[in-house]
Amino acid sequence: MNIVCSNCFTTNRIPKEKKHNQAKCGKCQEPVYSLLPTVLTNNTFSPFIERNDLPIVVDFWASWCSPCQNMAAIFDKVAQGSPYLLFAKVNTEQIQKVATEARIRSLPTLVFFHQGEEIDRISGGLNEVQMKQWIMACMNKIA
Ligand SMILES: [Zn+2]
Repeated sequence: MNIVCSNCFTTNRIPKEKKHNQAKCGKCQEPVYSLLPTVLTNNTFSPFIERNDLPIVVDFWASWCSPCQNMAAIFDKVAQGSPYLLFAKVNTEQIQKVATEARIRSLPTLVFFHQGEEIDRISGGLNEVQMKQWIMACMNKIA
């Protein structure tokens, strides 16, 4: 399984018998997998989305958006409880190129990616139950 290092963004091939959440990056020696959301940039967005074999939930947010602020702690909590998913954040004020290409029109928007493809998206503030239900529905679509 390929996992993109959450620290240096090198693609690591994790052997089947090894646990991805215990593997260290071959390049930077940091843990490859982070339970907390990975902050993406214009340079790291595409490789992270395209080269990871685990599904990824991306939070598109902005500092002026109060529903985004409210959802940030929930997003972190759901991420920490989901060891077979990757979570990432895009600050749409700083990373405008990615936000434009992803056609983000309202905030917050969550987008679920698998093997480089968008599976689904949902806009507006979600509570923990709503977020988990939406993620589960996305998982069912790729199962
Ligand atoms: Zn690394």
